[in-house]
Parts: sequence; structure tokens; C-alpha cells
Amino acid sequence: MLIYDFTLEALQSDLKSWGEPDYRATQLWQGLYKHLYDTPNQFTTLPLHLRKKIEERFTFHSFESLIHVNSEDGETEKVLLRSDDDQRIETVLMYYDKRRTVCLSTQAGCAMGCVFCATGQMGFHGNLSRGQIVEQVLYYARKLSQRDDQVSNIVTMGMGEPFHNYDATMDALDILNHPDGFNFGARRMTVSTVGVIPMIERFTREGRRVNLAVSLHAATNELRDQLVPINRKYPLESLLRACNEYVSLSGRRISFEWALIDGVNDSLEQAQKCSDLLKGLVCHVNLIPLNPTDGYAPSGASQVTATTFRHFLQSHGIPTTIRLRRGIDIHAGCGQLAGLNWK
Ligand code: SF4
Repeated sequence: MLIYDFTLEALQSDLKSWGEPDYRATQLWQGLYKHLYDTPNQFTTLPLHLRKKIEERFTFHSFESLIHVNSEDGETEKVLLRSDDDQRIETVLMYYDKRRTVCLSTQAGCAMGCVFCATGQMGFHGNLSRGQIVEQVLYYARKLSQRDDQVSNIVTMGMGEPFHNYDATMDALDILNHPDGFNFGARRMTVSTVGVIPMIERFTREGRRVNLAVSLHAATNELRDQLVPINRKYPLESLLRACNEYVSLSGRRISFEWALIDGVNDSLEQAQKCSDLLKGLVCHVNLIPLNPTDGYAPSGASQVTATTFRHFLQSHGIPTTIRLRRGIDIHAGCGQLAGLNWK
């Protein structure tokens, strides 16, 4: 059993059933998440008999790292991981000045079928467990700690739709947030969704302090239906209602992602409709010129078009940035993670 699938309480109850006091589970937890140990013999605060039992009961790795690549600009790296049930997923690390952002996967493939996305093009292959989501962060945390560095931000924008694997994703973020362990601040985590409304509502009800990002990509149902098929089930009016409710109940800002596609959704007409939709909402828009994938012909908007789009939204009172394109040469950019067709 993968040890990161266990909460501290679950480890306590396991160890208790072996006759161990509660503090042993805390020592184990701290070894895992403060010291980043990944083999039983590193837990030198635990007696030998307990380390042996832990070794028999738990595994510390569900993934084998198959390939690791660095982008030419040295600011992005990604790893192809194979799970013990032969799912392939990718995890990305991006460097932005002092920030070290892990972009993790929550599913192998994705059922949402966004037409411009390599993960959507490969279809759905399975959910990751909470422990497998946690393991991806620990992978890069260990790597960075060898250079006296650490993860500063976590986003769930890798493979999969996090709100289609809600419980595992949220449990993983809770484990990473635990104050006695990894102690990673909720405000440095961002969960993203393409618009699974019941889960946005649940996220709002739960009052989590994790940031929320919604992938919008179009401001009319007609266009969004084509780009993001889930829009046919959860159309824009309902989506914006859920987003407004989130902002008013949480008192937090919401982010919107918009992949700018040349000649498809980068017109001033779309910008106008977008500003109408988001009017009065405490939000921020990230524009990302679309990254190329094999299964979708249109290309990303030019820098000039992206800048014009941004100016339009900003002049209508909507804070907007153009996201830096990263890791395109290693297929690590937004929407490029495919897990199978490694280039
Ligand atoms: S953009 Fe996100 S939700 Fe859409 S297919 Fe790709 S991974 Fe899935």
C-alpha cells in the first residue's frame, strides 16, 4: 500500500493496532513530509522492528520515473512517470525567479475532451489516488532539496480534470497542507477546473483556502461548446453563476484561464463578450497563446494579438496577464502533456 495514501490519523490507527504509541505515527509522518525520507531505513528515530513492519506493510514509490527532460531555456523540466498499474503521467516543474511551481497531474488522460489539449486527445485512462498526487510533489521536493531549494507553488494543471477526481485531489492537498508534515500553505496551491459546476459549488461550500482557477477559453456558448465539450452540460450562464457565488461567499478572487487560438477565440468581439461576462467579478484573467499539439491544427495567437486582447480587458477593468510560454520544446506547456507520445 502506498504510504502517501494514508492520512496521519490512518497511520496512527494502523500503528496503534500494532501496539505502537501515537507519537510513532507522528515521527513517521514527519520523516515522510519534513525530511522527505523515501526508504524505511532513513527513519532512524523509529526502532528497527517498526521500520521492518513499515517496510512490509507500505511502499514508498508507486511511480517509476522513465524519462526526465529539461527545456533549452533551463526554466522548465518534466518527468514521465509510470505507475505500478502501467499508467503514464507527466509532472512539470517551472522556475519563475524565486518561484518553483510544480504542475501536477490528477488523472492519467482526461475525459473532458477539450479539442486543443493533448491530454484530452488521448482520452481517459484512470484516476490517480491521493497518494499518487502527493508523490509527484515529493518527487520534485526531493530533487530541489538536493540543491537547497524547495517547491513554492503547486498547481493542478497537469493531466486530467481535478474536479473529476475531486476527493483524491482535495485529500492530497490536505495532506500537503498538514502543519505537522509538509506544511504547504493553502494559498500557494491552485486547483483548476474546466467548469464542473457541482464540484465548484462543493468547493465553495467547503470553504477551502486553496486558489481556484477556471478555464474559460470562450465567451459564447456556441464557441465554448466546440472547444470545451463539457460546456454543453454546464453552459456559461450556470458556470458564471457558480463563479460569482464562489467569489461572494469566499471573499476571494477567482482566476480565469484563456488559451488564445489564432482566428478562433482571439477576436475583439470575444474580448468584449468576455468583459461583459466578467463585469463586476473580482477576478484575474491569464491569457496563454495556445501551445501546439498533434491533434489540433489551429495555432496560438500572435504576441501582438495577445497584447491587444489583454489591453482590451484591462481597459474594461479586468486585471489580465499574458502567461509566459514555457517548456514548449519538451512538450511541457499548457495542454501539451500526453504521457504516451514522448518526443
Ligand atoms: S484542458 Fe484540462 S480538462 Fe481539458 S482535456 Fe486537457 S486536461 Fe482535460
